[in-house]
Amino acid sequence: MASVLVVEDDQFVRSALIRHLTDASHTVRSVGTALEALREVAHFRFDVVILDLGLPDLDGSEALKMLRGITDVPVIIATARDDETEIVRLLNDGADDYLTKPFSVEHLSARMAAVLRRSGAGGAAEAPLSRVIRVGGLAIDPLRRQAELDGAPLDLTRREFDLLTFLAGRPGVVVPRKELLAEVWQQSYGDDQTIDVHLSWLRRKLGETAARPRYLHTLRGVGVKLEPPQAGLEPPQ
Ligand code: CA
Repeated sequence: MASVLVVEDDQFVRSALIRHLTDASHTVRSVGTALEALREVAHFRFDVVILDLGLPDLDGSEALKMLRGITDVPVIIATARDDETEIVRLLNDGADDYLTKPFSVEHLSARMAAVLRRSGAGGAAEAPLSRVIRVGGLAIDPLRRQAELDGAPLDLTRREFDLLTFLAGRPGVVVPRKELLAEVWQQSYGDDQTIDVHLSWLRRKLGETAARPRYLHTLRGVGVKLEPPQAGLEPPQ
């Protein structure tokens, strides 16, 4: 069925989860810390990650952000905190679903089935819902990490892909550099040159320049936005 990573430091909860998931014929690996989880997702392919929020080494939301920095695997948050604001924030930060502890085996199964169906993993019979981001002639598939421009595949590095995906997810919105650094580079500070260099590489691959932008627009001192080229306003080639 599905390949599952269980991130849970409570040995009792962890054993119960592993037992249940194995009984349901899933393949399970499990770890007890966020850093081990990051190592796991860097080395193995999972269909879904079940992430406990109360881990000994990293705050759950921190762990989620770091996971999101390296993988698009669906993540189900398991939390004892019955805090709606926190849950909404985590869903916005890239969690796919959540479970409030204590949860039943049936509840977990239902949430997992829904997440797997959406991501198209786990041998679900139904067609997966498309999560392809389209902006103008750009089509980005975050799960498969593939991007196309006008039907031609783009050969992007991991960072270029993350940068493009992040901006394309907010078309027309000016994203401050600080936010790009935090979201794409997972850094709270850094110099603007890092972003500029990656932007210029990305521009080249999109066949445009800063002087003649099509999709990527830099607003000096403000930030960067991605938007579809406007018909009739295309710069001359
Ligand atoms: Ca815990």
